[in-house]
Amino acid sequence: MADERPAGEFSAWLAELQGALRGERGSDVPCAGCTACCTSSQFVHIGPDETATLARIPAALLFPAPGLPRGHVVLGYDERGHCPMLIDGQCSIYEHRPRTCRTYDCRVFPAAGIEADKPLIAARARQWRFDHPGPGDRVAHDAVQAAAAYLAADAGGPANPTQRAVLAVEIHDAFLGPDDVTGETVVITPGPGTVRAAIARAGAGAPPPR
Ligand code: SF4
Repeated sequence: MADERPAGEFSAWLAELQGALRGERGSDVPCAGCTACCTSSQFVHIGPDETATLARIPAALLFPAPGLPRGHVVLGYDERGHCPMLIDGQCSIYEHRPRTCRTYDCRVFPAAGIEADKPLIAARARQWRFDHPGPGDRVAHDAVQAAAAYLAADAGGPANPTQRAVLAVEIHDAFLGPDDVTGETVVITPGPGTVRAAIARAGAGAPPPR
């Protein structure tokens, strides 16, 4: 299809996103001019340690982040739903953009098989197509989607689609195990305790999602 976009090899993408979520790197999304995530009425969390970012945003645009300790703030959006730091279609603080923006990757939606709740982002996310050149790519992708399906069915799972998709990536290892016969890595159905432990580990290291 003409509007399909290559999302990359799944396992490589997965490793990159996990590194971004651990704070080791930013996401390297081939946005190609798309600003859907900057124009979709999203609050952007900024932590108190992000001093270079905070120094570049007028204080009047920042508000205390609900439910988070003092010093955590959110950057709001204007009456069009645009981030106020988006000027002439470009991020005016790109080199110092918030960590939330650095780690945001809308490929997480097709990875998890979840529809985004923001129309512009959902339209873009539907265009991505992952490659699965090796069996590890396919089984990893299936494990992320199995984790997302588990979280969707679990009353305690995140209701927010972004949070659920990110958490599915973070806990997908719990849905991988050896096949009884061949020993190859396959998708398994873990027990609730195993999933709870994986969620607890993810929660310990994850930054607050957008
Ligand atoms: S800070 Fe920059 S990258 Fe982040 S939402 Fe605003 S314009 Fe987009």
